[in-house]
Amino acid sequence: MVIAKAWVLKKHFDGFPKTSDFDLKEIELPHLKDGGEQKLLLASVFLSVDPYMRPYSRRNMKEGDIMVGTQVARVVESKNPAFAVGAFVVGHTGWRTHFISDGKDLQFLPSNWPESLPKSLALGTVGMPGLTAYFGLLEVCKMKPGETVLVNAAAGAVGSVVGQLAKIGGCKVVGCAGSDDKVAYLKKLGFDEAFNYKTVKSLDEALRKASPDGYDCFFDNVGGEFTSVAIDQMKKYGRIAVCGAISLYNDSVPQKGPYMQIPMVFKELLMEGFIVSRWSNRREEGVNALLKWVVEGKVKYHEQVTEGFENMPMAFIGMLKGENIGKAIVKV
Ligand code: NDP
Repeated sequence: MVIAKAWVLKKHFDGFPKTSDFDLKEIELPHLKDGGEQKLLLASVFLSVDPYMRPYSRRNMKEGDIMVGTQVARVVESKNPAFAVGAFVVGHTGWRTHFISDGKDLQFLPSNWPESLPKSLALGTVGMPGLTAYFGLLEVCKMKPGETVLVNAAAGAVGSVVGQLAKIGGCKVVGCAGSDDKVAYLKKLGFDEAFNYKTVKSLDEALRKASPDGYDCFFDNVGGEFTSVAIDQMKKYGRIAVCGAISLYNDSVPQKGPYMQIPMVFKELLMEGFIVSRWSNRREEGVNALLKWVVEGKVKYHEQVTEGFENMPMAFIGMLKGENIGKAIVKV
């Protein structure tokens, strides 16, 4: 008999999430049966904490639900020949240590995954955040060599890949992040210009100095005030990929304008929101491309690993506060 631990949303977040909004539950898992649907027992090895969990919980969850999320899990027991004991897969079963599955919703790591590469990258640079960068740049920004790309939250899971893919694509890259250590990291990754948005005297001036001619593409992870300032510095026919709006997720009262219609009209901008799952039919293409670049050393990665399943709420809150460089991961 396996007793799984799971984190549930005890109370809907009001403003910034608190550890008291979560509850740790124990769930007794049934034995696997021959011939039934539930043929696999899995143990989570790495779990992901992501910004989307904050707005998603309000829109799609009720109090008492297990927190939404993905994990890299190991097959512990199998009555399905397609899944060998010891195999690693990506699951989508939320914040839990163990789960039972029929295997339909599980994704294998690519068969050429090098032994030396952390399997947690399947939740980061070679997983959903990396794919967000890949499809957002290629399909929404439609970046072209020689263009200038702006990305915010640039030292995070998505942003750090955006900058590196834009460099591979022959663009000039400007990124900003919330600490000097993060700015140093961006320089190490090859960003052409990087600044700390928390310490610059004027965001408008910092953006202008980094690219006096303006920006062709803006990969927006932050929204709000930042977007209002950056939009004025887009070039004519610029493209804005609205990936996220982390500066708004914890607001109890919605922020108001300035509104962006006038620069949108005069610069004839294209602004498109997207969710990475739009390209789930091209997941393999994206994963293979990202894995190849990582193996070749063309895309570098960093992970902020929190040890211990019991620390998941703290890891989530820390990521929302900006404590992570690269992908925030929890190791069970
Ligand atoms: P990150 O790893 O970038 O972590 C979040 C970062 O956001 C923090 O480290 C912090 O960095 C920054 N941040 C937090 N609060 C603020 C604020 N008020 N203003 C500016 N920056 C802030 O997370 P991800 O890379 O996983 O996600 C980045 C964005 O992409 C999020 O908005 C997320 O919702 C979105 N996303 C969208 C997807 C889609 O399909 N559309 C898929 C995946 C992610 P700093 O120190 O720089 O402030």
